[in-house]
Formats: sequence, C-alpha cells, structure tokens
Amino acid sequence: MWRDFVYVIVGGGVAAGYAALEFTKKGVSHGQLCIISNETVAPYERPALSKGFLFPEAPARLPGFHTCVGANEEKLTPNWYTEHGIELILGTRVISADTRLKTLLTATGDTITYKYLIIATGARALKLEEIGINGSNAENVCYLRDLADATKLVNMMRVCTGGTAIVIGGGYIGMECAASLVMNKIKVTMVFPGSYCMDRLFSPKIARYYEDFYKSKGVNFIKGTSLSSLVINLDGKVTGAKLKDGRYVHADMVVVGIGARPNTSLFEGQLTFENGGIQVNSQMQSSKTSVYAVGDIASFPVKLFGDTRRLEHVDAARKTAKHAVSAIMEPKTTPDFDYMPFFYSRVFSLSWQFYGDNVGEVVHFGDFSGTKFGAYWVNDNRLVGCFLEGGGNEDYVAIADAIRLKPVVLDLGELERKGVDFVLAV
Ligand code: FAD
Ligand code: NDP
Repeated sequence: MWRDFVYVIVGGGVAAGYAALEFTKKGVSHGQLCIISNETVAPYERPALSKGFLFPEAPARLPGFHTCVGANEEKLTPNWYTEHGIELILGTRVISADTRLKTLLTATGDTITYKYLIIATGARALKLEEIGINGSNAENVCYLRDLADATKLVNMMRVCTGGTAIVIGGGYIGMECAASLVMNKIKVTMVFPGSYCMDRLFSPKIARYYEDFYKSKGVNFIKGTSLSSLVINLDGKVTGAKLKDGRYVHADMVVVGIGARPNTSLFEGQLTFENGGIQVNSQMQSSKTSVYAVGDIASFPVKLFGDTRRLEHVDAARKTAKHAVSAIMEPKTTPDFDYMPFFYSRVFSLSWQFYGDNVGEVVHFGDFSGTKFGAYWVNDNRLVGCFLEGGGNEDYVAIADAIRLKPVVLDLGELERKGVDFVLAV
C-alpha cells in the first residue's frame, strides 16, 4: 500500500510522544501526521521501565505512564491519537528510507511518503555478543530498553525472588536495576570495568556514597574487571559468570547494562553524522532540509558550551522533539535551540539531579554522611556544572538558572562553604 502524509515521525518512543503533543498544539490537521513505531504500544515514558515498573508493590503499568505524564502534561492514550486524527502505526518496523524520494518502506510492505520527516528512532541496548560474549538469548539474561524487556525482567525477578543476580555494567541501567533487584529480594553482585560506578558523571567521592549505600542494602561490587564468559547449563540457562580476573560468580539471573547504540542505520550514507548520531542544526534540521532528528539519535548544538552533543536522556528527547515541531510548523518565529544538559536518577530513597557539564575542578559540598550533598564543577574560573542529591525543587531551579549564567568563581572555598546557598544567591 502507498500512503501519503505531510508529517511522518519514524520511531514511537519518548520524543515521538512529545512531538505529537506539540503538533496538536501548533494546529496540525487530522490526517496530516503519522507515527510509525516498532513497538506495539503508544509512546510512553521510558524512564518508568527501570523504576516504577519494577516495583514489587503497586508497580507502574500502562496506560499509567504514556507520554507526556513525565512532564506533567496530557497523557496521550491510544484514543488520544485517534481523536486528534494522528495515524499511529504500531508494531511496524521501517526497513528502509530514501530521503531523496521522501519515502519510507515498512516491514509490512507499505510505502509511506512525507513532506517533513522527524527521525526519533532512539537507541538500542548494546548486546554481549557485540563485545565477544555469548548468552544473550538465555531465558534468564535480561536487557532493559523497551516494554518487552521490562516485562521479561519482572517475570524473571518473580522466579528468582530469594536468589541471586549479576548486574553487568555500573552505569544507569546497572545502578537502577540493581536497586530494583534488591527491592525484589534478590541478592546482587555488580560487575563493571571502572574503578567506581557511574564513572562518566560521578566523582569518586560521589560514587563512594552510592556504593556504600548499595552495600548497606547487601549489594556486592566487583570493580576493575569485566565478564569473560557466561556459564550456561544444558537447559540453556545461565548459572554463573566467569570474570576476566579469574573469579566465578554464581547467579540465578543476569541483567546487562553495558551501554546503548543509536538506531541510525536507516540513514547512513544519506545524512551527515556526528558523535555517532545524526547531525542537526539549532532547528533540529539535518543535512537534508526536509528531515529533522530528535532524541537519542540527534547530535545538536549546545549553545551554552559551544559544542555539539548527543545526549541519551529523557529531558533532551522531550525538548528536542518539541523544538523540531516548532521549527517545522513556525519556522520564522522559532528561535535557536538553547539547551541546558540535565540528567537525573532515582534509586531506593535517593534522588539526584545534574545540570550542565562535569568538566574542570570538582568542589564537593554538603553532608556526605547525611542525605543532602553535591558537587560543583568549575572550568576556566566559571561554574559549569552541579550535581545535587536530596535537593528540593527550589534548589534544582536555582542550580539550573545559575549554570545557565556560568558565573565567574575565583574562590573555590566559597563554593564548598556555601553549598546550595551559592546558587540560591546567584
Ligand atoms: P526511544 O524512547 O528509545 O524511542 C525510540 C522508538 O523508536 C522505540 O519505540 C523504537 O522501537 C522505535 N524504533 C527504532 N527503530 C525503528 C524503526 N526502524 N522503525 C520503527 N520504529 C523504530 N533518561 C533520563 O534522563 N532519566 C531517566 O531516569 C531515564 N531512565 C531510563 C530508563 C530506561 C530503562 C531506559 C532504556 C532509558 C532511560 N532514560 C532515562 C533515557 C531516555 O529514556 C531516552 O533518552 C529517551 O527514551 C530517548 O527518547 P527517543 O524517543 O529518542 O528514543
Ligand atoms: P551507560 O553508558 O550508562 O553505562 C554502561 C556501563 O557499562 C558503564 O558502567 C560501563 O563502564 C560499563 N561497561 C562497558 N563495557 C563493559 C563491559 N565489557 N563489561 C561490563 N561493563 C561494561 O549505559 P547503560 O547500559 O547503563 O544505559 C543505557 C542507556 O539507557 C543510556 O542511554 C542511558 O543514558 C539510558 N538510561 C538513562 C537513565 C537515566 O538517565 N537515569 C536510566 C537508565 C537508562 P565504563 O563507564 O567504565 O565504560
């Protein structure tokens, strides 16, 4: 079948949901917009999958976390798309794209044409096989990217309650899943190659706080080494892992979080790439004027720091999506995108937020033996980043506002002494 649309979004995740809402706010007409998604459900807030969805009690379930509830906006249920005349083609993979002819071909054999295309294909979990280790297909090896993965993880946690798990990777997935496994009464060993967890963002001192907290919950850390192979029994189940340092760890289940890779293969050779993603300008427009890229796959200019970044975080997905729609629908009045990098996580009773850039000198502040502490990053005498655990809304707003101004800091001791009061006074 041949279908024509004015606007097409390929990918049906976070960015697609926020783009859809923005299209309706900007007055898209019925029948003009189509979203094609490989997933079988309408766009949802992906962060819920490693948090509320994994709770042993009263877990989050769809339709509860469809976009755009994560930003306190309307919840876009499947009916919402119908009511707004937006064609939601679910469970359908786009298998090829031709940006010259402005056509997409789906796995079901349909050809879809567009005037404007928004690429929102997100990222996929890096597989063990891609780092030379077999076993991903075992029934007790879990990844976490989409609803199907999360459902498998929940089922596996039920089977393994009272048992043990190995978590491979000390990044976002590793940390958030380890916390959920503990809450589900599973004893966790985390294995990762770095000398401390979340080493791309945390300072060693921040990491030590979280590692100590996790240890107090029974989590065992094996750092500075990685997986050598998974031991698989005759039933095809993993029973343990051999590590490169020679150790063996028994496990009833495995969770793998060793990074993500952007889903960009459809557009290789057709668009300009940067940082492993699709390069866009400050209107989210790619090297082909009719094609926009948003979310995890977009490499966009970050005015504040004068460089181009690809950020795999939900706030960037939401805001790049809204911006692209505004640029398409109101090109004359849409200003350049001016983004403040923002990341967060919630585990156990803990909750942190980070704004800006983690480069330069680190100045820690607050009570690292208590519940509220943080760190500033100062680069070239300017405050460029701030991490805060346990802050309130007022603190986080002040941090974001202050980092945007990049105030000059000549006395690092003042930052340490004043802590959050420093940004509250900026
Ligand atoms: P996605 O939300 O991944 O959506 C991409 C969609 O495109 C998917 O539905 C996919 O199936 C579809 N797709 C891909 N290729 C095709 C194709 N060829 N044809 C059709 N459809 C296709 N960030 C935070 O800041 N805070 C958090 O707490 C947080 N928690 C997270 C928890 C988990 C478990 C994960 C996996 C990520 C988390 N993130 C978090 C990151 C955040 O969710 C992503 O940055 C965000 O989802 C990116 O949005 P996106 O729309 O670009 O991609
Ligand atoms: P991350 O990049 O956050 O972390 C990957 C981790 O795996 C790092 O600790 C890395 O160590 C480690 N690693 C790399 N290679 C190996 C190896 N061979 N063996 C063991 N460990 C290894 O990716 P995740 O998988 O945690 O997250 C996937 C995606 O989901 C990301 O886009 C992330 O942003 C997103 N996400 C975001 C969340 C949030 O913002 N709160 C929550 C959940 C997911 P090293 O750093 O030393 O290389």
